[in-house]
Amino acid sequence: MTTTLWTQGPSRPMETFDTLNPATSEVIATFPVFGEDGVAEAVEHAHHAAAWWAGLPAKDRKTRLLAWKSHIMRYIGRLAELVHTETGKPLADAQLEILLAVVHIDWAARNARKVLRPRRVRSGLVAFNQAATLEYQPLGVVGVIGPWNYPVFTPMGSIAYALAAGNAVVFKPSELTPAVGGWLVSSFAEVVPEQPVLQLITGAAATGECLARSAVSKIAFTGSAATAKKVMAACAQNLTPMVAECGGKDALVVAADANLDAAADAAAWGALSNAGQTCVGVERVYVAEDVYHSFVEKLADRMSEVRPGEDREADYGPMTLPSQVDVVERHIADALARGGRPLLGGLDSIRKPYVGPVILADVPEESRAVTEETFGPTVTVTRVANLHDGVRLANAGRYGLGASVFARNRKAAMAAARSLRSGMTAVNSVISFAAVPSLPFGGSGDSGFGRIHGADGLREFSRPKSITRQRMRPMVNLTSLSRTDKDMKRILSLATMLHGKRYK
Ligand code: NAD
Repeated sequence: MTTTLWTQGPSRPMETFDTLNPATSEVIATFPVFGEDGVAEAVEHAHHAAAWWAGLPAKDRKTRLLAWKSHIMRYIGRLAELVHTETGKPLADAQLEILLAVVHIDWAARNARKVLRPRRVRSGLVAFNQAATLEYQPLGVVGVIGPWNYPVFTPMGSIAYALAAGNAVVFKPSELTPAVGGWLVSSFAEVVPEQPVLQLITGAAATGECLARSAVSKIAFTGSAATAKKVMAACAQNLTPMVAECGGKDALVVAADANLDAAADAAAWGALSNAGQTCVGVERVYVAEDVYHSFVEKLADRMSEVRPGEDREADYGPMTLPSQVDVVERHIADALARGGRPLLGGLDSIRKPYVGPVILADVPEESRAVTEETFGPTVTVTRVANLHDGVRLANAGRYGLGASVFARNRKAAMAAARSLRSGMTAVNSVISFAAVPSLPFGGSGDSGFGRIHGADGLREFSRPKSITRQRMRPMVNLTSLSRTDKDMKRILSLATMLHGKRYK
């Protein structure tokens, strides 16, 4: 593949970096490294663009976002090819990722007005003379810092919702996937050519830090918890708020009455898809002891059929980030050293840049393979007494992103779903919540805070604005220097009547 220099960039010359195909190490393209000045310039342009974009009627923003959506859909083949080249994931997986992103652009575009528009709210008896209105206004410029594992779907959860809420966006994709980021930004410029409402800045950690310290109104960060802490420290300098979408250590809990074929199939896909490089991938499975052996047999059967590679028939691709292979290796070695047993694969499954499927059993709960994000095609399987016990162990870690429950008893499954300390839980499937655009997505603990997707995702990129309008003179004017003791007495007896009742 020929090396091309990305032409969009700031006005002054800059250092550059290359993006590589992780399967072949071939150079895909060369990009500028944005420094403080380049980032500040982009953010300044974005503020002008934000004023223009926010000033458009909401229906015009909707039309343009829908035009962007259909542009992406029409050129899905080209974008998927780029995702495949930069991340190594199979083309079909790249297409699925883009499809999901399109669903979110569509939802954000169609629902922004309804969710954010001004609405009358009750003013209550004490402020009866006031008309109260609540509306959600754009923040201005949102800085989006993205990861490489889902370079379209993941940043789009912030970009589409921020744009739909009337903000301009300055987007720093991962240094591993800038070509995909560049494609998204250029395609948006095709449908919104007037102003740089969505801009690209490229570079690694230092560029991201410049963005977090710049004059943006909010940072939407997706990446690891360790990086989120650094971004938060940079944001702290200007009290810039932040959404943190971080990693996970998602568990799948299998009850004794579960459909084991479905559970094993879902666990295999959840663990192996995208070579396990999925924030809501399945990394731990807890299985009720009555069905443990049957489940493990089915899971091993299913996972042993799967093969990584670069060819079109491969089930998943290489590890995108070369250093992640070392993390996977450390986790497997630690699990084995602590008495874990490989049920499928093991250390010899590592053949850089590929890692074959690995199932580990009897791994102590304090092992790294259970407590830390592995981000590889490995899964631990642990026997538990029952669904309740599985939920208890699933909840024991620092992360709280996604989870799955497999059980036939609907009541028990829903109760388990509620008790799992995760932002999202799928019952009898995996990761399905990511495909429902009206559901908020995000975590707690080391998985971060704030929400993308759904109405909460739109509000995340808005500023609530409260307005009271006096519609008649008050019976008693409490906010006046001419207030009398008699006025105060009247209002106190009214308040005692309303709020002073004894509750048993
Ligand atoms: P990462 O934390 O290494 O980098 C994420 C982004 O932050 C990149 O763009 C990077 O250049 C930038 N960055 C790095 N250091 C920075 C700094 N000091 N200041 C500002 N920006 C900085 O993560 P990654 O390896 O790209 O992605 C993998 C991680 O992302 C995993 O932990 C995964 O679980 C998580 N993830 C979470 C979600 C979610 O929605 N919760 C989705 C996808 C990925």
